[in-house]
Amino acid sequence: LSEKLQNVFKNLRSKGRLTEEDVKAALKEVKMALLEADVNFKVVKNFVKTVQERAVGQDVMNSLTPGQMVIKLVNEELVNLMGSETTEIALKPSNEITVIMMCGLQGAGKTTTTAKIAGKLKQKGRRPLLAACDIYRPAAIEQLKVNGEKQGVEVFSMGTSHKPVDIAKAAIEHAAAHNENVVILDTAGRLHVDEDMMGELQEIKENIDIDQTILVVDSMTGQDAVNVAKTFHEKIEIDGVILTKLDGDTRGGAALSIRAVTGCPILYVGMGEKLSDLEQFYPDRMASRILGMGDVLTLIEKAEAEIDQDKAREMEKKFRKAEFDFNDFLEQIGQMKKMGGIKSILGMMPGMGLPADLDIDDDVFKGTEAIIYSMTPEERGNPALINPSRKKRIAKGAGVDIAEVNKLIKQFEQSRKMMKQMSGMMSGKGKKKGRF
Ligand code: GDP
Ligand code: MG
Repeated sequence: LSEKLQNVFKNLRSKGRLTEEDVKAALKEVKMALLEADVNFKVVKNFVKTVQERAVGQDVMNSLTPGQMVIKLVNEELVNLMGSETTEIALKPSNEITVIMMCGLQGAGKTTTTAKIAGKLKQKGRRPLLAACDIYRPAAIEQLKVNGEKQGVEVFSMGTSHKPVDIAKAAIEHAAAHNENVVILDTAGRLHVDEDMMGELQEIKENIDIDQTILVVDSMTGQDAVNVAKTFHEKIEIDGVILTKLDGDTRGGAALSIRAVTGCPILYVGMGEKLSDLEQFYPDRMASRILGMGDVLTLIEKAEAEIDQDKAREMEKKFRKAEFDFNDFLEQIGQMKKMGGIKSILGMMPGMGLPADLDIDDDVFKGTEAIIYSMTPEERGNPALINPSRKKRIAKGAGVDIAEVNKLIKQFEQSRKMMKQMSGMMSGKGKKKGRF
């Protein structure tokens, strides 16, 4: 599959800019890839449209082919769509009881995941109680008990002759009496979405203060997953989703569909049957899995790093010739931010030993940037132009004192002078040979 994609992208090579035709052709294949990854077709349609709008007319970054540029945009948009960052289950403070209701179809992995989450919560210092609300399968109660025991977590059950809502109520009372601060309700699923199941869940929600409703979805169910998620969300309103069985060979298109259709974050992914096999959901990893182009993405990352190196080399040349101007200055600030800010750059330098309370942030550049942005392009390129009346205008534009503008220009001239001297020394001009 990814071979197929690469072929199309090859055709796009050696063009300097993304035209509508380029993007359309490439996205046609992306569309196929997403559908093959079991992403819902409506979601695919919207997705492709978004990327299309974003991509056409974009400059192709140096040293990336147009095809790679399209993949880059596709990947970014996939990550965006899945939430761009990890989300945790929202918990109340420890002195209150958080009630979590697990729901989903039969076999999705609710009971297993309930125990997995209990383990995670315990690690965080919480005291979970698991409540067996699946009254239709006695084996399910036993399964929860066994898993709870493995996790060292208490399991509350009342057999099969009480209504789930009553079991849930009793479980919360039990938790209050036993100093437990998270109650997880393991509810009963059905083979298909049906009125019975929804009615049961609705009854629980109407009678009990549920803090988090979490839908458990089997990632192998592909296209169905999106309908399941949609119906659950419409009927009982869910707060988050856990995707199970991602240890299989599914490409995980369900993650994309579910997020797009419900807007609910994906909290965790199940990566196996063992109770420790529950992982945080990382949108960027998921995006590359869905796209199935890990290699190409690595290539793009490398190319991006190269661009930065090219720029650095160019900058160094300018420094040597003392030709750099305020445009370069801005660029430098931008590069620094891109590399993770001044703190992280200092942190990367060997032997810097950053004090823990070091308090510099990138705001120190904000004033500088504001002043430079208030200059005209000519002024930025030729700072010698900046006479007193121009300084006044610039200060006003940037909302600072003229003194600030003077300071910046002075610093700038000084560093330029220094560069000149240094490059003079390095090239040996005016110095005895062999000294440097
Ligand atoms: P429930 O009916 O929703 O409660 O589902 P169960 O928790 O009983 O799980 C159904 C089956 O799926 C069991 O055999 C689990 O061991 C298995 N299972 C659950 N989560 C995962 C997972 O993340 N990976 C794999 N490989 N199997 C899982
Ligand atoms: Mg179960």
